[in-house]
Amino acid sequence: MKSLVERDRACLWHPYTQMLTAPPPLPIVRAQGVYLYTEDGRRILDGISSWWVNIHGHSHPKLNQALAAQASELEQVLFAGCTHRPAIELAERLLAILPSGLTRIFYSDDGSTAVEVALKLAFEYWRNRGEPQRRTFVTLRHAYHGDTVGSMSASEDSVFTRPFAGLLFPVVRAHAPYCYRCPLGLRRETCRIDCLGDLETKLREHAGSVAAVLVEPMLQGAGGMIVWPSEFLAGTRRLCDQYGTLLIADEVLTGFGRTGRMFACEHASVRPDLVCISKGLTAGYLPMGATAATEALYEAFLSDDRGKTFFHGHSYTANPLACAVGLASLDLFRENGVLDRVQRLETQLRAGLEPLRRFGDVRVIGGVGVIELESSEPGYLDSIGPRLYRAFLDRGLLLRPMGNILYFMPPYVISDTEVEWALQQIDEVLKDELSVNHLRAL
Ligand code: PLP
Repeated sequence: MKSLVERDRACLWHPYTQMLTAPPPLPIVRAQGVYLYTEDGRRILDGISSWWVNIHGHSHPKLNQALAAQASELEQVLFAGCTHRPAIELAERLLAILPSGLTRIFYSDDGSTAVEVALKLAFEYWRNRGEPQRRTFVTLRHAYHGDTVGSMSASEDSVFTRPFAGLLFPVVRAHAPYCYRCPLGLRRETCRIDCLGDLETKLREHAGSVAAVLVEPMLQGAGGMIVWPSEFLAGTRRLCDQYGTLLIADEVLTGFGRTGRMFACEHASVRPDLVCISKGLTAGYLPMGATAATEALYEAFLSDDRGKTFFHGHSYTANPLACAVGLASLDLFRENGVLDRVQRLETQLRAGLEPLRRFGDVRVIGGVGVIELESSEPGYLDSIGPRLYRAFLDRGLLLRPMGNILYFMPPYVISDTEVEWALQQIDEVLKDELSVNHLRAL
């Protein structure tokens, strides 16, 4: 009989892999807690929460049970003209924990569509309010907001977006607070968040024509795992108010405790006009996105003029199975003191990664530990990434460095001993792989 890998090779096309040089996919047959189990009998620690989605561990009995119970009641129904209890309850509970001022939930399918919805809502909001000239989006350098055309447009010009450049709409890009590679050549210890000045300049230059500023609060993910000083986030809100524009927080990665707070905006007590969530929303079980909006935004669409309706919807909008798992996941947050667990994880990561500063910049926020390795070819295509990936996998640890950006982002249920073990693997692999030859090449 053919193995899963052989059968996969004959019919599948995976995201982000170079077809000729990519290692074979891992044939996963089951997963439990923080571990993935392969067809050929390996046990691998999921050190990246299966692309940042898993929070309570794989195949959690309570989530499994919520899913099964919902499946036997109502598995799916269209959400245009219908409603159901799981969608209502999840919206009520999300609005109770999201930053205050948000009163409406618009469901979609994943992180990219949550961002796409926010962009379209902001765009149409100004049109409905009779200010159609407000159509420009301001985003940040190193941003990553997804792979659909709108979310790619808002993202940094990078390997992810370059082949599609001709397809994308123009945006205005302002400096990100990337302290390790400060765009102004300053040092965090002495700077006054001067990089915010670029956002202000851009807002002034485009005054009256900006629809919204879109940011990944506190942690820019795929663009380099860049951890922010919270002052930058507070300053962004201040500037949006000053220039009368909307603030969209893309919390697709940061939401649901990843940065140590339920939502990253809490680090600066910021109240955005729109918030995009996904990933941890269903604890990594089912694809679902949501965009939360203020009542002012919602009201701009309330009209007898059908031309002002928000014409956006997906077949699986507010899928009841996903909503039911989302609700059960929120229960687990309460029952298991999950946010306290993430804070302990942060302390352990800070202590454990500090000695690795000799390899580059160490950044930690909540349950995310990052080492930006010194490199002569920094960026996603740095060849150190695939080498480290293989070396970690040989030791039973799934990490997927983005070029020279190595990060560890496990499900929160990981034990202290498992964190210790993972940190030891990181230390040993870096010692082996970043040999004298590599360092000499820098
Ligand atoms: N926004 C952010 C901040 C993300 O990190 C991602 C994915 O990593 C997305 C949007 C896109 O989410 P998805 O891959 O679910 O479409």
